[in-house]
Amino acid sequence: MTDQLLEVSRLTKRYQGTVAVDDLSFSVRRGTITGLIGPNGSGKSTTIDCISGFTTTEAGTWSLDGVALRGQSPEAHARAGCMRSFQMVRTYDDLTVLENLLAAVQSQQGIGWWASLLRTPALRRAEDAARQGALAALAAVNLSPYADAPAQVLSYGQRKLLSIAAMLLARPKLAVLDEPVSGINPTMILSVVAAIRQLRDGGTTILLVEHNMDVIMSVCDHVIVLVGGQLLLEGPPALIRHDPRVLDAYLGGGIEDLV
Ligand code: ADP
Ligand code: MG
Repeated sequence: MTDQLLEVSRLTKRYQGTVAVDDLSFSVRRGTITGLIGPNGSGKSTTIDCISGFTTTEAGTWSLDGVALRGQSPEAHARAGCMRSFQMVRTYDDLTVLENLLAAVQSQQGIGWWASLLRTPALRRAEDAARQGALAALAAVNLSPYADAPAQVLSYGQRKLLSIAAMLLARPKLAVLDEPVSGINPTMILSVVAAIRQLRDGGTTILLVEHNMDVIMSVCDHVIVLVGGQLLLEGPPALIRHDPRVLDAYLGGGIEDLV
């Protein structure tokens, strides 16, 4: 078992002539919260789309816990232990919050509809256990009062908490979070940050794409800075924060975020 959980080597992704990710190599150390930052358009979302199986790539390889994943589906990535959240969290608004949570984890684990038709005692026991686990995960993100409410009552920020609850329940090896605090209020940001720490404390390694520098600086053990699809530099948050190259990179792209 190596120290690095995720290893990405020479990743390249183009969109009709635009090089979104350019020969990028990096790794994520087991047990850490690693931040992936950079100005708008620097290739953060594309990078995590690639390494979670949501898009094709022109070149490069990546592996999770030693398992090579290039060319595999998002479901195969999930089975290998890589779980991805999106900036916009999708919910089934007619299902309850609890049902949404169970559905999210079931689809990530690839449990087929046919399994639920068999309804064996073993399956029912597994369902009961899943339900108990889901209730605990909701409690962990302070969403217990909403367990039986339709998901449409959840605010934008509460939906982000729900996606982290799904990860607390599924306990993936690697959680890849795309801007988990964007567009939510300061109180909710604290709840999301607490949930991210809880996820890490439970043994999940985290790759965090985020614009909010206070959040990056306070939760990350290690930060990787992308510019133009390439790695500009990486290191501990305290060094990144004061590096003039990072300030330069953000000029015109939101320097106020960094001061
Ligand atoms: P970030 O998440 O850092 O803001 P992205 O990965 O979204 O950056 O984008 C990197 C580059 O790739 C940008 O130049 C962007 O315009 C381009 N890009 C991203 N997605 C697409 C797409 N689906 N089609 C064409 N160009 C894209
Ligand atoms: Mg993005």
